[in-house]
Amino acid sequence: MTESAPLDVDLALLGGGGAASLLLAALDRHGVRDRRIAIVDPVRRRGQDRTWAFWGHPDTDLDPLLSASWQQVEVATAARRRVLDLTPLRYAMLRSGPVYDRAAEAERRLDATRVVAPADVVRDDGTRVLVRTGDGRSVRADWVLDSRPRPPSRAGRTTWLQHFRGWWLEADRPMFDPARAVLMDFRTPQPPRGVSFGYVLPVSDRFALVEYTEFSPDLLTDAGYDAALAGYRDLLGLDPAGLRVREVENGVIPMTDAPFPARPSARVVRLGTAGGATRPSTGFTFSAMYRQADQVARALADGRPPVPAAAYPRRHRWMDAVALRALDRGGVGGPDFFDRLFDRNPAERVLRFLDGVTTPAEEVAIMNSTRLLPMIAATAGDAAHRVRDRLRPARPALAIPPAVVGDAVGAE
Ligand SMILES: Cc1cc2nc3c(=O)[nH]c(=O)nc-3n(C[C@H](O)[C@H](O)[C@H](O)COP(=O)(O)OP(=O)(O)OC[C@H]3O[C@@H](n4cnc5c(N)ncnc54)[C@H](O)[C@@H]3O)c2cc1C
Repeated sequence: MTESAPLDVDLALLGGGGAASLLLAALDRHGVRDRRIAIVDPVRRRGQDRTWAFWGHPDTDLDPLLSASWQQVEVATAARRRVLDLTPLRYAMLRSGPVYDRAAEAERRLDATRVVAPADVVRDDGTRVLVRTGDGRSVRADWVLDSRPRPPSRAGRTTWLQHFRGWWLEADRPMFDPARAVLMDFRTPQPPRGVSFGYVLPVSDRFALVEYTEFSPDLLTDAGYDAALAGYRDLLGLDPAGLRVREVENGVIPMTDAPFPARPSARVVRLGTAGGATRPSTGFTFSAMYRQADQVARALADGRPPVPAAAYPRRHRWMDAVALRALDRGGVGGPDFFDRLFDRNPAERVLRFLDGVTTPAEEVAIMNSTRLLPMIAATAGDAAHRVRDRLRPARPALAIPPAVVGDAVGAE
């Protein structure tokens, strides 16, 4: 492949992380065999670099890859601990290693070409797309599926981050209940602006991922994450003397009503977080990525353009903008907001709502379970802000900051 002879393909995947891995697996699953595919990423993803937690119906495709799944989860506040039965759904944990392995297997079967370089310039002439890589090579594709991380196209009305640190803890005696995960535990000290919670994903009675998460505008320091996580471990009554930190997981996920355009040009489709698959009010992304991967693969198998439905309906994005505003401007307390949702709705409805797949009638019930006055104020504030946005030039969005990476020193 040289400047004068671009690699000619039907599909170019820019970015080979979560969204692209799920897409490769879906293309393989749907028997899409006759397409020339290139994957452009400076990094070949392998091993455990993240853990995906998500809910859904048990399914024959993903279940063999799961590290654990739970029918029951806990949501805890200072006032009460609620055990939710998720039937017919289940909460599941999928580590990245098996997903990347399956994608690598699919890549071989699809006979895809790897270009280990950053994609740099993307030029769409409406018929084909020319991609130039950072090392001077080029790829020409009928369609580009782009999941490279990028900031939204302009600043949002509310810009928060979901940022977290987790420890994979190994205990020298049974300390965890593998029958039940902790979905959200709001007994952690709450930040002045934002929401914090801990959670526990047990794989066995001696091995679990324990995380501290904040939804807030700013990251903590390395020492700040360690202190918060150690505090949560102590809150759970786990004796540090009997625990070893085997792995540390850090992450930052955008939580904003800023737009992530999913179709920047005729033949470029964005997937994953870059394409709006991250739910603004929760940071959950996996289910939308999985759904969209399946839609793209089905479309190609049927000879249609590889364009998925929007990750979330427009009315959900509006509801998320209002909820984020209410949380950010202090009208609604985070623990109270989530506590009421789970208190006044069946767990299944809340979880399907968070995945963006509820009906409008169910959404009315969900909205009715929040505190009315602050939500009305946030709705009015959001509407006024939209009008102001129309009258003034768009402000550029800030880049999503990298995670604060530390080691397990503070953990022992
Ligand atoms: C630690 C962590 C834990 C998470 N846990 C959950 C969870 O439990 N549940 C959930 O729903 N969501 C979770 N998320 C959010 C989301 O599901 C993941 O971030 C997911 O990996 C997003 O997939 P993606 O393809 O959009 O981005 P990524 O997986 O980050 O992939 C982007 C790819 O683009 C590549 N790239 C970068 N620059 C270029 C370039 N110039 N050219 C080509 N390629 C480039 C990168 O190397 C990378 O491989 C988590 C995120 C993190 C970081």
